[in-house]
Amino acid sequence: MPQIGQGTLKGMGITLKHLLSKKITRQYPEYKRQMPERSRGMLTVDMDRCIACLQCMRICPDHCISIDQTKRDFDGSGKPKPFAVGFMIDDSRCMYCSLCVEVCPVNCIYHTEEFEVQAYSRLELARQFGERPVDPTVDPKPQVKKKRPVRGGSKGKAAAKKKAAGKEEEAA
Ligand code: SF4
Ligand code: SF4
Repeated sequence: MPQIGQGTLKGMGITLKHLLSKKITRQYPEYKRQMPERSRGMLTVDMDRCIACLQCMRICPDHCISIDQTKRDFDGSGKPKPFAVGFMIDDSRCMYCSLCVEVCPVNCIYHTEEFEVQAYSRLELARQFGERPVDPTVDPKPQVKKKRPVRGGSKGKAAAKKKAAGKEEEAA
C-alpha cells in the first residue's frame, strides 16, 4: 500500500511540473506555420492569362480540370482565338502532382499556400473560375480529342503522305 501512495505522489508531481512549465506546443488553427517556399497547396488559375490551350486538362491524370472552351475575336482582327469561358478544378480528385503547372505554356495555373478545404459534399469541392460554371459531374477526359498515332513512326507518316498524294494524282 505505501508503494501505491508513493506512485500517486510521483505522478502528481510530474503533472504539476508540466502544468507550470512553458508550453512547447502550439495550437492549430490559432497558430499556423508558414508553408515552405516550394510547398504545393490548392491550385488557382489566372483567367486573364489563360489561352485555353487545354494542355493542363489533357495531362491531368486524375481528370480534375475541366475547361469549357469557345472562340472569341478579342482584337477585332476577324481571327477568333480559343477562350476558356468556364474553368473548373476539382479538389476532391487533385493529388497535387503539379503536372498541370509544369505543362502550362503561360504559367497561369499555379499552386497557392492554401491547403484547408472543407465541404459537405464532393461536388462542393469543384472550384469554378471563368464566366460560366462547368458541370463537375461530367468527366472531362473523353471530350478531349486525341491525335491518332501513325503506325510506324516517321516512316509511317511519310508512307501515309505518299499514299495520300497518290490518291490525289489518281483523282486528277
Ligand atoms: S496537380 Fe496533378 S492531379 Fe492536380 S489538377 Fe494538376 S495535374 Fe491534376
Ligand atoms: S495549360 Fe495554362 S493556358 Fe492552357 S488551358 Fe491550362 S491554364 Fe490555360
